[in-house]
Amino acid sequence: MIKIKNRKILLLPGDGIGPEVVAEVKKVIQWLNSKKSLDFTIDEDLIGGASIEKHKNPITDEVFYKAMESEIIIFGACGGPKWDNLEFSKKPERALLKLRKELKLFANLRPAICFKQLVEASSLKPEIVSGLDIMIVRELTGGIYFGEPRGIKPIENGERKGINTHTYTSNEIIRVAKVAFELAKKRSKKVTSCEKSNVMESGVLWKEEVQKVRDNDYTDIALNHMLADNCAMQLLRDPKQFDVIVTDNLFGDMLSDEAAMLTGSLGLLPSASLGAKDKNGKMRSMYEPVHGSAPDIAGEGIANPIASILSFSMALRYSLDLDQEADNLDQAVQKVLDDGLRTKDILSKGKKEVSTLQMGDAIISKLK
Ligand code: NAD
Repeated sequence: MIKIKNRKILLLPGDGIGPEVVAEVKKVIQWLNSKKSLDFTIDEDLIGGASIEKHKNPITDEVFYKAMESEIIIFGACGGPKWDNLEFSKKPERALLKLRKELKLFANLRPAICFKQLVEASSLKPEIVSGLDIMIVRELTGGIYFGEPRGIKPIENGERKGINTHTYTSNEIIRVAKVAFELAKKRSKKVTSCEKSNVMESGVLWKEEVQKVRDNDYTDIALNHMLADNCAMQLLRDPKQFDVIVTDNLFGDMLSDEAAMLTGSLGLLPSASLGAKDKNGKMRSMYEPVHGSAPDIAGEGIANPIASILSFSMALRYSLDLDQEADNLDQAVQKVLDDGLRTKDILSKGKKEVSTLQMGDAIISKLK
C-alpha cells in the first residue's frame, strides 16, 4: 500500500474525561493508518493537571516545543477541582491559553449543528433547531482576555479595582474576518459580524475593518453587522437565519456556548483553532471538543467521545485537506446515531445506552 501522507499528530489528552475521549480518536487514527493509504505518526504527552502532578507545571518546555513543532494537536480537556485553588498562573487551564497564544491560533471555529436524530435533546422547539448548521468564528488571541493593562489593584479607601483592557488592531480583525469569509464561500455565502459598536470604540474598528475586507475581497458574500447582544437574542429566536458568525474573543466565548446549547449536548460539539498559513501553505492547528474535563463523570467510561471524534474530522478537513475522509467520519457518526446508539448524556427512551469505548468502536465499524 502506498502511504500518501506522512503527518505528525500530537495528542494532549489532559485531565478528567480528556484521556477517555482522546483514546477513541487514537483508535480512529490507527484505523485510518491500517485501512487507508494514510500514515499518521502519533505522539502523546501530558498537559494540564496531569502535567502538574508529574512536573509541577501545567505545560513543560518539552511539551510546549513539541506543540510548536506539530502541525496538528488533538487536545482533550484540562482542569478539575483538585487544582481549583492554585494561583491563576499555575492552573491547568493556563497551558491551554499559552498554547493558543504562543502558537498564534487566532481563529476558533465552532460549528453548531443540530443532528436530526437528537433534535429532541435541544431545549428549543424542534422546528426552531431542526437542520441547524451554524459556524461561529471566534477571534482567539486578542481582545479583553489578553489586553494590557490588567490586574487587581488597591485603590483609596481600602477598595480594590479589577482591570482588563479590550483591545484590537486592524490586522487582528482582518485576518479573522478573512477566515470567516473563506468559510462562507464554501457554505451559504453569508457572514454576520458581531460587536458592540454602539458603546465600544474597538467595536467601531471591528465593524469598519470587517466591512473593508468584504468590500475589497469578498463582494460575492453577503455581510450583515449585528450587535452582540442582539445576536444572543436572535440565536434563540431564529438561529437558522445565521450561516457564519464572526466575532471577537469575549463575545465569541459566550455566543458559541449559547449556540452550542441549541444543539442539545456538549458531548457532541467539536472545535478547531487555526493559525495563519506559512509560505508553504502549512498552518498550526489545534482541535478539541468544546466541553471541559467533566470531573463529575471522569473515570466512569460514560463520556461521549463524539465531540472529540468530530474534532478530528475537522483536522482531516482543515489541516490535511482530506475532505473525503472527513465526510466518511461524519457519516459514520450519523449512522451510529441512526442505529439508536447513545452515550448517557444523549440517551432517550427507546435508545440503547453504550459506553465511551463502545461508541468509539461503533463509529469505527461504520467507516468505509
Ligand atoms: P464541562 O464541560 O467539563 O462539564 C459540563 C457538564 O457537561 C458536566 O455535567 C459534564 O458531565 C457534561 N459533559 C461534558 N462533556 C461531556 C461528554 N463528552 N460526555 C458526557 N457529558 C459531558 O464543564 P465544567 O463542569 O464547567 O468544567 C469542568 C472542568 O473543565 C473545570 O475545571 C473547567 O475549568 C474545565 N474546562 C476545561 C475546558 C478545556 O480544557 N477546554 C473547557 C471548559 C472547562
